[in-house]
Amino acid sequence: MAYSYEAPVSQTLFDRASLVTPGGVNSPVRAFRAVGGTPRFMVSGTGPYLTDADGREYVDLVCSWGPMILGHAHPEVIAAVQDAVARGTSFGTPGEGEVALAEEIVARIEPVEQVRLVSSGTEATMSAIRLARGFTGRAKVVKFAGCYHGHVDALLASAGSGVATFGLPDTPGVTGAQAGDTIVLPYNDLEAVRAAFAAQPGEIACVITEASPGNMGVVPPLDGFNAGLKEICAANGALYISDEVMTGFRTSKAGWYGIDGVRPDLMTFGKVMGGGFPAAAFGGRADVMAHLAPAGPVYQAGTLSGNPVATAAGLAQLRLLDDAAYAKVDAVSAELRSLVGEAFTKEGVAHTVSAASNMFSVFFTDEPVRNYEDAKKQEAFRFTAFFHSMLEQGVYLPPSAFESWFVSTAHDARALERIAAALPAAARAASEATA
Ligand code: PLP
Repeated sequence: MAYSYEAPVSQTLFDRASLVTPGGVNSPVRAFRAVGGTPRFMVSGTGPYLTDADGREYVDLVCSWGPMILGHAHPEVIAAVQDAVARGTSFGTPGEGEVALAEEIVARIEPVEQVRLVSSGTEATMSAIRLARGFTGRAKVVKFAGCYHGHVDALLASAGSGVATFGLPDTPGVTGAQAGDTIVLPYNDLEAVRAAFAAQPGEIACVITEASPGNMGVVPPLDGFNAGLKEICAANGALYISDEVMTGFRTSKAGWYGIDGVRPDLMTFGKVMGGGFPAAAFGGRADVMAHLAPAGPVYQAGTLSGNPVATAAGLAQLRLLDDAAYAKVDAVSAELRSLVGEAFTKEGVAHTVSAASNMFSVFFTDEPVRNYEDAKKQEAFRFTAFFHSMLEQGVYLPPSAFESWFVSTAHDARALERIAAALPAAARAASEATA
């Protein structure tokens, strides 16, 4: 596909980056491999806008993959960071900021009785799985195809051939032994979960699921799915781990738990709670968390865990996220979803706008999407054309058809108007695209 617009400075930076960094990026999806073209190197962000190295401004619908729920460079978050950074950047000792952030999390999310801070969502899920194994004395972990929990070795296993089966390593470097205790099942299929427990009585330590998946596009749990998982886990002495790295503090004040009320044994968080800095967490039942070092025998640690600058940013952001803020994000999302739906309908493009609270994505199919297999059946090539038309018109979408779009409290009428103005041509490009 040829692109009618250019980004010479980004291209030069990408060429430099590609010499010193594999693929030119520090996280694969940033490389635009799914859509082609030159990844934009961003130099600044303000509110709902990003500016790239070529001086072009975009309405940002990625929001750093979720964290920037107040928009970029929110003055109160920046002030909290400046205040913290002026007092030093890392002490390797306990500090009040991490206590305050932990208190805020515990206050917001009732099932979290105790919480441990870490630096990334990957660390949070990795540690939660270790703790579940240590607590239950069992080895096996159930996960769902299409759910992403970071690049934890054991959790990179997916359904492979598409058949729900025992985990096979999905990437070179993950050994059979690391993935062999992972059971990958189709999402939204409680029967498959029951069958896995029946086939391996007393062996499954935990089920880990995205509270509402956003990594195969947005595919919410069917009514009763999370409650069913909880019930099956409880009946079999396994822990139910809800991964809220993406949904936590975004889909409501108490994340997805605030929406479905299903009480997990352990939960994981990241993204929003760090205010754009590397802060993440896992927490839950006090009796389970008591097994964590130094209180208990399950080891877990981090040089930068509870970093004072990251916790200051996270705390400032969470304190600004009151009911009014969530109402705003929900309203922006609803308006954008209807604009997007109208544009595709007008062009006769088969599509489904799939939402979970204020997270949403577009599937290029009008068939129901309940799991990863369904998601993969969409006409993803249409997304590529849509993405590049939007980019050319100054709207920055996630560079993949299988990612959630994110909005913020800063997406105001002007930003929405710019998106609305770009949609007709982009929807036309999607309708004219060929595989
Ligand atoms: N869990 C979920 C649900 C995620 O969406 C992600 C990242 O997108 C992770 C875990 C991993 O988080 P991180 O990228 O901070 O390691």
